[in-house]
Amino acid sequence: MNTALMQITQRPEQIFTRGKGNYLYDADGNAWLDFMQGWAVNTLGHSHPHIVEAISYQATQLINPGPAFYNAPALQLAQQLTDHCSLDQVFFANSGAEANEGAIKLARKWGQLHRQGAWKIITFHNGFHGRTLATMSATGKAAFEPLFNPKVPGFTKVPYGDLNAVAAAIDGETAAIMLEPIQGEAGVISAGSAFLQGLRALANQHGILLILDEVQTGMGRTGSLFCHQHHGIEPDIMTLGKGLGGGVPISALLARDEVCCFEPGDQGGTFNGNPVMCAAALAVLDTLTQDDFMTQVQSRAQQLKSGLSALSDRHQLGEVRGEGLLLALQTGNRNATEISQACYSKGLLINAPRPDTLRFMPALNVTEDCIRMALDTLNNVLALPA
Ligand code: PLP
Repeated sequence: MNTALMQITQRPEQIFTRGKGNYLYDADGNAWLDFMQGWAVNTLGHSHPHIVEAISYQATQLINPGPAFYNAPALQLAQQLTDHCSLDQVFFANSGAEANEGAIKLARKWGQLHRQGAWKIITFHNGFHGRTLATMSATGKAAFEPLFNPKVPGFTKVPYGDLNAVAAAIDGETAAIMLEPIQGEAGVISAGSAFLQGLRALANQHGILLILDEVQTGMGRTGSLFCHQHHGIEPDIMTLGKGLGGGVPISALLARDEVCCFEPGDQGGTFNGNPVMCAAALAVLDTLTQDDFMTQVQSRAQQLKSGLSALSDRHQLGEVRGEGLLLALQTGNRNATEISQACYSKGLLINAPRPDTLRFMPALNVTEDCIRMALDTLNNVLALPA
């Protein structure tokens, strides 16, 4: 298509005009069952009435007083997020990368003040933390290595899951360890409880910080509000993004009191913590924390996982991985990108983060029927000759 938009990714020709729940519609009224949901962003599906109402009401009251003033939704959201985890203070930003950039700055400032100027951060092969220069530098994707050099220095990369390699990489200049509890873009690879607990112990032993990037795994995606809650550990710093606003741009950097050392002028941003985005996030959080919401997520996750395992057996594919509604299916020698394109032509949106991996990130309130339909479509596509 000839367009004035910069071509930063390959897009299909369709122009999308409407979304409702589990479905996305194009300008001609064609519907797609959406198991990507804006890359795990639309926590409650497209245009959930609770979010629409919260945004609409807040827009009539106050859109943006500016970050130099308090506003009620930001105060409430910060309070509620900290009530639901072990962290004490919040800085709001607009994207996952920006929250992670803040986490990197906070760890460096903390190292400057409390660990004799330590400034290095241990990150992991195949990890993903965003596309600002510092977060691309922290990212462990091989494809990023030749890009935009010289990178921001100070990120020591080690293999994910290798506790000995982390221990060997810690030196007097190390301020923190930073990782995703599940590497999403790498193809949904879980760190697992033993590795996370080992990292927590190493961080305690050396007096350094543990930073969890829960941009993809947070906000109920893995069947508990935050993924680390499955694994019996608490981070010193956590970042959230994606699902936090249920579709609108808001992210958060949370930290323990002892780590919060930003002074006025160190960190900020024009749109940060604006009340309209915070009102949307409050509507998301309110829904996720209702009585049986997470039980429903776990039931749907079980349904999707066992359905994918059955398809894997039937079509001789590979492993089914992940937690909650962040799942992946290894496609073996079948090309995952071609499978996702064939699904697209049959009205199902799924994503292929790697050439041999399909990823499933439906809305957390996805229905039993929608999961059945998605599995049927995938089955039909897989039954076609490769
Ligand atoms: N961190 C993780 C774990 C992510 O999955 C992503 C995006 O995919 C990011 C950070 C970057 O978030 P954003 O695209 O909102 O900057």
